[in-house]
Amino acid sequence: MNLMQYDVIVIGSGPGGYVAAIRCAQLGLKTAIIEKYSTFGGTCLNVGCIPSKALLDSSEHYHNAATHFGTHGINLSNLKVDMKQMMARKEDVIAQNTSGIAFLFKKNKIDSFIGMGSFVDKNNVKITGEDGKVTQISGKNVIIATGSKPTALPFLPVDKKRIITSTEALALTEVPGHLIIIGGGVIGLELGSVYARLGAKVSVVEYEKSIIPTMDGGLGKELQRVLKKSLGMEFYMGHKVTGATTKGKKVTVTAEDPKGGELKLEGDYCIVAVGRTAYTEGLGLEHIGISLEERGKKIPVNEGLETPVQGVYAIGDVIKGAMLAHKAEDEGVFVAERIAGQKPHIDYNLIPGVVYTWPEVASVGKTEEQLKQEGKKYKTGSFPFKASGRAKASMDTDGFVKVLADEQTDEVLGVHMIGPRAADMIAEAVVAMEYRASAEDIARICHAHPTYTEALREAALAATANRAIHM
Ligand code: FAD
Ligand code: NAD
Repeated sequence: MNLMQYDVIVIGSGPGGYVAAIRCAQLGLKTAIIEKYSTFGGTCLNVGCIPSKALLDSSEHYHNAATHFGTHGINLSNLKVDMKQMMARKEDVIAQNTSGIAFLFKKNKIDSFIGMGSFVDKNNVKITGEDGKVTQISGKNVIIATGSKPTALPFLPVDKKRIITSTEALALTEVPGHLIIIGGGVIGLELGSVYARLGAKVSVVEYEKSIIPTMDGGLGKELQRVLKKSLGMEFYMGHKVTGATTKGKKVTVTAEDPKGGELKLEGDYCIVAVGRTAYTEGLGLEHIGISLEERGKKIPVNEGLETPVQGVYAIGDVIKGAMLAHKAEDEGVFVAERIAGQKPHIDYNLIPGVVYTWPEVASVGKTEEQLKQEGKKYKTGSFPFKASGRAKASMDTDGFVKVLADEQTDEVLGVHMIGPRAADMIAEAVVAMEYRASAEDIARICHAHPTYTEALREAALAATANRAIHM
């Protein structure tokens, strides 16, 4: 058989895969990419980051118009949600992004194949199209970037109609009267915000004592307070979900409360948002002798992101670490550069985490809980947005910025913020920490006035010598 030969074959075109392919091509490697769906961009562009942010933006406009415009002296009548148009705009945003990736593949002379990629052996991958047609290609290196899918609760089957995952929740045709969300993590709170802003009653049932439990403790507490106050969201913390049943257009969710009693909620839809699981089905890993890790069922990789099979790499959601688009992208660049003989580096401690609620939540570095566990001596400095002139002007006074710095050296160890535009502001903290800045370094840098970023400077001042100016 005369097979197409490549330096690199990438399986999966999400942010891990498409970035890896582009970087490989930039480095002069002959590259092919395989995607099972007809559009590129993976979870992130099709059913994740991009559509969720499109709906977060639309719903935020509506919510502001409905609740805040009057205070600004702007009066509207007949304000209505047009779900058809809102979803059509979201689809258009997706299309702009996915077609952009197709353009970039052409521009970089990357061969793209649509179909299911499956290992024949470590250098040969067969592609099975939807019509059953099989193509086989050969590569010196293969990068697995097959991503993840929503985690299912074994006792609570998703019917994709009333008991749904984030994918269906991004395409509802109506605003639910009552939306029940299982899981107070990132997806639950972002999608819960979308529908609460559009008028739904939203109830979140969370197993842990805090929402966004892996982030710095203070953030979850403040976010829960604000979402309750501004959107009327209900939270059932420390509740163990026991089941869900549907009857007609209604769904009933049951959970065990912390005292052993039963909670019963009846709603119109239930979103199951309890995490995501690595996606490896149909990849034929058994043909190259790769077994998944016991914990998390992820593909095992070493520090160079190479699997136990030489020349086969894995990146993104399908391997250990945070399930984030920018983590997958950085790993895509990392592996491409490793294959090209370079010596790239990723500092996993400095991958920021963001929740796109309003206020936004953003974090980088160590949390207070982690520093305590490590026995590290640290100082904290906080600054509330209610003391920020910019935040007062935009009526975004909820939240705070917290800087954690080494008690001895003043090096910034972590920055945690909840407030307006925190998603964009965290970049300053990441840059500072990449350069191992001290809290005083941030405090001495001039920040434009009035901006939300002044809150970071003030928190750094507070951490340096408890000398915030505006507090
Ligand atoms: P994926 O994006 O999952 O892409 C994998 C691709 O591989 C898919 O297109 C799949 O079809 C394809 N594939 C799988 N198996 C095969 C095969 N055998 N052959 C061919 N193709 C195959 N992260 C953020 O950083 N910021 C956010 O705001 C954010 N929002 C999110 C919102 C939602 C609702 C969800 C669900 C996720 C969100 N995420 C966000 C997470 C983010 O989407 C993922 O971390 C990211 O997409 C992982 O990228 P990846 O390349 O590893 O995999
Ligand atoms: P998550 O891990 O963020 O949250 C899941 C939540 O469900 C946790 O709080 C967990 O305690 C809770 N939970 C687990 N089992 C439960 C049960 N049986 N009953 C009640 N609660 C339960 O997961 P997610 O929100 O599903 O998101 C999946 C992934 O997608 C995350 O890793 C996240 O990084 C990524 N994502 C990122 C963004 C972003 O960066 N803004 C947005 C959406 C999704």
